[in-house]
Amino acid sequence: MSENAKQILKQVFGYEEFHPGQEELVSAVLSGRDAVGIMPTGGGKSICYQLPAIMSKGMTIVISPLISLMSDQVQALKEAGVEAAYLNSSLDSAAFFNTVERAKRGDFKLLYVAPERLDTGLFEELASSLKINMIAVDEAHCISQWGQNFRPSYLKIAGFIKSMRYRPVVAAYTATATLRVRVDIINALGLDDPLVKISGFDRKNLYFEVRKPDSKKRELLAAIRERRGKNGIIYCSTRKNVESVYKLLDGKGYLVRRYHAGLSDAERMRNQDDFLYDRANIMVATNAFGMGIDKSNVAYVVHYNMPKSIEAYYQECGRAGRDGSDAECILFYSPADVRMNKFLIELSVNENQGLNDERRRELLDRDEQLLRDMTFYAFTDACLRKYILEYFGDKPDTYCKNCWNCNNEFKEFDATTSARAIVNTVYLICARGWPYGKSMVVDILKGAKNEKVRKAGFDRLRTFGELAKSPRSRLFNIIERMVYDELLEEAGDKYPTIVPGSRSEIIRSPEFGYIIKIPAERRAAAKEEPMQTDFDKGLYEQLRELRSKRATDDKVPAYIIFPDKTLSDMCRMLPTSPEAFLSISGVGELKLEKYGDAFMDVIKNWMESNGDSELE
Ligand code: ADP
Repeated sequence: MSENAKQILKQVFGYEEFHPGQEELVSAVLSGRDAVGIMPTGGGKSICYQLPAIMSKGMTIVISPLISLMSDQVQALKEAGVEAAYLNSSLDSAAFFNTVERAKRGDFKLLYVAPERLDTGLFEELASSLKINMIAVDEAHCISQWGQNFRPSYLKIAGFIKSMRYRPVVAAYTATATLRVRVDIINALGLDDPLVKISGFDRKNLYFEVRKPDSKKRELLAAIRERRGKNGIIYCSTRKNVESVYKLLDGKGYLVRRYHAGLSDAERMRNQDDFLYDRANIMVATNAFGMGIDKSNVAYVVHYNMPKSIEAYYQECGRAGRDGSDAECILFYSPADVRMNKFLIELSVNENQGLNDERRRELLDRDEQLLRDMTFYAFTDACLRKYILEYFGDKPDTYCKNCWNCNNEFKEFDATTSARAIVNTVYLICARGWPYGKSMVVDILKGAKNEKVRKAGFDRLRTFGELAKSPRSRLFNIIERMVYDELLEEAGDKYPTIVPGSRSEIIRSPEFGYIIKIPAERRAAAKEEPMQTDFDKGLYEQLRELRSKRATDDKVPAYIIFPDKTLSDMCRMLPTSPEAFLSISGVGELKLEKYGDAFMDVIKNWMESNGDSELE
C-alpha cells in the first residue's frame, strides 16, 4: 500500500514524505483496523484520515466539533480536487438538504459532521442509505471528562456507530496525550483492538523562550516591532487583558484584531476571517481562539499571560509554524499570572454545582498541580523543549539548541547569603502574627524606610537592610526560585503571601549552599533588521501578491492556495517547468493545473529581468 499512499500524498497534497506516525495510521485503517492517532498540533492528523478516505470506496464521515475547522478543511480539500462537504448549524435548510441529497448520490469522499447532528432522524436515515467505510473522530479528547474540552455530544458517537448496519473502521485523533484521556477515548468509542500511535511531541521548528519583563506592555511593543509584517497570535488570560493589549497595538498602526467570548458572534467571525485571510496579521485573543484554526503561516505566539497548564500552553504554541517554517513561542511571565490562574481555577471549580466536597478538592488539587508544572517551566534553567517533552512522556535530548535557555549563557550566582536572609525574614515576619507578600520581604531586606514597613515595626527586625546592596529585581527572582525549590511557599487567599516552605529548615545547616543560575544580560533587542532569507524577497512579494489576488478571486484564505513555505521554496528553486513546479512541497497535481502557469510566469519574468539566462 505504502507506494500507493505515497503517490496520492504527492499527487493530491503535494507532499513527498509522511510526517512521523502518518504512514502507520493510514496503513492501519486501510487494512480495516481501528486506530488512535496522538500527534501534536500541526503534526498532520488530517492527512491520516483524508488520505485513506480518498483511497477507499465509499464515504468517510469525519466528526469534528468546530464549524470553522470543518469549512477550512473542506475548502482545502476542494482546492486539492477532493469532493468534500459538511453538515452543521451554519447551513441554512436549503443548503443542508442539498448536501444530504448529494451525499446520498455518493458525491463526496468526505462528509464532515458536527456531533450534535448524529442522532437527528435525517442524519440517521442518510447514514443508513450510504456506504460509509470509515468514521474519523477528530479532537477525540472531547469525549473524555478528563480532557480539557469535554463535549457531552461526543458521547453520542458510540450509539451512532452501533446503530449502523455494517460497522465501519473507526479512527480517533487528538493532541492530548495523557493516559487517562487515551483510555477514555478507546472505551467510549468502543474501539476494537486499535493501533495506538503516539508520535513524538517535538515540533522542531518552534523556538521557545520565557521572558520576565518589568513592563509587559513595553516588552510586547518591542517584540511586535521586531516582528513587523509577520503573523502572530498574542494570548491573554482574560477578556480585559485582550482589550487592553488590543488598544495598545491598535493605536500604533498595526493590523490587529481581537477575539474573546464577550464579543458578538458576528464580530468574532469577522475578526477571525480577517486574520485567516491575511487582512490583519496580529490576533489578540483569549484561549477561545485557535482550536481548529488551520492558518499555517503564524510566525510567533506570544503568551502575554501564562496559561493554566503545560498542555494548554503547548497546544496554543502549536498554532505557530504549522507549515514547518521557523516560528517563535514566547511566554511573558509575571507572578501576578500565577495568582490570576489560582483565582480562575477556584472560580471554575466552585461554579461547578454538581460536585461534592471531595470531588471539588480533587479537581482543585489536580488543577493546582498542573499550574505548578506550568509555573516551573518559567523557572527552569534547563532546556525548555526538554521540559515540555518530558512532561508529555517523551525522552528528549538534553539540549535542543532552539530555545532561549539552550542558546544563552547563564551565570552562576551564589545566593546562599541571600536565601538565608530571606528565610529568616519570612520567619521573623510570621512570628509577629501573620505573613506578608514578597514586596514586604524585599522592602525589609533592602532597608526601605516606607510607611508600611515602619507602621508594622519591621524596621526593627534584625534583617532590616541586610541585603541593601542587592537589586530589587534580583531579590524577587531569588524568592521565586526559592518557591520553586520549596524553601518558601506561596500562601494566602485574598492577598498572596510568603511563608516558609517544606524545605526551609535546611538553611540552618552549615553545609547549606544555594547556587542559582541567572541569565546573563539578555541581548539588546534587535533593531528592525531586515529578515535574513536565502532567497529574493522581491520575488517572494510578487508571488505573495499573486496569491493574495487569487485568494480574493476564489474566496479562500491565501494559505489554502499555497502556504508561505511553498512560496519561499518556489523562490529558492525557481521552477519554470511543470515537473519542477510539481516537485515543490505543497504543490499537488490540481494546484499545478490551477496555479502553475500564473506562478511560473511571475518566476520567469523575474528571472529575465534579473538577467538569468538559464531559461529554456
Ligand atoms: P493537526 O490537525 O495535527 O494540527 P494538520 O492536519 O492541520 O495538523 O496539518 C498541519 C499542517 O501540516 C498542514 O498545513 C498540513 O497540510 C501539513 N502537513 C500534513 N502532513 C504533511 C506532510 N506529510 N508533509 C508536509 N506537510 C504536511
